[in-house]
Amino acid sequence: MFDLTLTFDNGPEPDVTPRVLDILRERNIKTTFFVIGQKLADPERRRLAARARDEGHWIGNHTFTHSLPLGQQEDPRTAEREIGRTQELIGELAHDKRWFRPFGGGGNLDTRLLKPSVVSYLTRNRYSCVLWNAIPRDWDDPDGWVARALTQCRTQAWTLMVLHDLPTGAMDHLEDFLDRADKAGARFHQDFPPDCVPIREGRIVQPVDAYISNIQESATS
Ligand SMILES: [Zn+2]
Repeated sequence: MFDLTLTFDNGPEPDVTPRVLDILRERNIKTTFFVIGQKLADPERRRLAARARDEGHWIGNHTFTHSLPLGQQEDPRTAEREIGRTQELIGELAHDKRWFRPFGGGGNLDTRLLKPSVVSYLTRNRYSCVLWNAIPRDWDDPDGWVARALTQCRTQAWTLMVLHDLPTGAMDHLEDFLDRADKAGARFHQDFPPDCVPIREGRIVQPVDAYISNIQESATS
């Protein structure tokens, strides 16, 4: 038996997200979609985010460009450009807790995730910062991630897993994963394990130093 919260990052994608939503609906599993801001500018993708919200999923902010990790950006306006702009596009689809998930390039939990000006933006604007404790690298190994994901679930009491609704082929195995997780005694949750949410509604409630770079910002860019 284990507890499991699923999240789907980097979408929405017209070729993948609808099928993921169908599968979750059939099983009555509620999750969170951490969407990329610039994708929401496309009306078709925006409609997918709206469908997800209407079907009970939460919509979170996963930066506007998902290019360079925020902790590596020298631009002092990173927070507004990557987080604020995305939150505006999410608009009324946003959750009250203003879920935000940074990225480190490859799923690493390290100082690439944040920098001081981003942390201060998150606290000032009452965001909740959602990390993770399982990343089965579905994008890297679209046909082999399921076994790794199940192993990760078994090693801890409550897993917060990052999957991707991207056209890699990985989501062709989502049903298989859910079947096997079910058989192994998974209890699904939508909320996140507290240890994975170091900033909650603007309050720093877990240590964040390990995720903050000391990059010098340059006002010239
Ligand atoms: Zn991502």
